[in-house]
Amino acid sequence: MQSISEKRTFWRSRFIDVAYDPVHEEMIDDMVMTHDIAESLFSPFVKKNAILDRTHLWRNKTVFYYIGNEYTDKHREVIRDGIQLIRDATCVKFVELRHPSQAPGTYVHISSRKGCYARIGSKCKNAVCEMSLEIPGCIHTGTVAHEFLHVLGFFHMQCATGRSNHIRVMFDNIDEKMWGNFEEYATDSTLLGTPYDYESITHYGSMFFSKDKINPSIITRDQTIQKRIGQRKYLSRGDIERVLRLYNCY
Ligand SMILES: [Zn+2]
Repeated sequence: MQSISEKRTFWRSRFIDVAYDPVHEEMIDDMVMTHDIAESLFSPFVKKNAILDRTHLWRNKTVFYYIGNEYTDKHREVIRDGIQLIRDATCVKFVELRHPSQAPGTYVHISSRKGCYARIGSKCKNAVCEMSLEIPGCIHTGTVAHEFLHVLGFFHMQCATGRSNHIRVMFDNIDEKMWGNFEEYATDSTLLGTPYDYESITHYGSMFFSKDKINPSIITRDQTIQKRIGQRKYLSRGDIERVLRLYNCY
């Protein structure tokens, strides 16, 4: 039986092989990020907390986005509804572009590739932050909101610093290649001083990446919450609070 730290070393070395772009970017589950951000998340020796570094946030609290031509009117409606969940509850502004050439600077380019994923923060190659919302699997309001929280700079809740007080990750029931999705962050880039949030739209569900699809990959310490983790329908009060804090909405 390997210790968690041995497992961690193991997956980190494996992870390099599957990196999205080994030179500049890394991909962890559905989050694409610069190597610097990944390092600051996982290394206790890197003091700088990347996403609290305001240069990664969206300037003027405004996110520009463009929805690719492949989406139907119905798809667009769902994407806009997902964005609206964040817009209605926070001070972050979202501006839709009719054409990428209208972008005044960095913008999110939404297209249907393989799977659902997004860039973390606003530092993107050539000022284009790629987001994939695959048709039809990712066209859900909650999924869109989840991906846009990544865009704003948020990571997954189940990896938050100190998460072990709230959940147990059942590594033996998770494929080793996926362990990276469950590693605990070394720096608090997710909680921003709020309590651990089982209800967060960024929290994995009990069965995410479960190897046998029968036993959970995550067990909540409080058993009464077990069935409630992994919701993708709404922003939790905590999700909203963290956006308000990160973007100084107060
Ligand atoms: Zn995600």
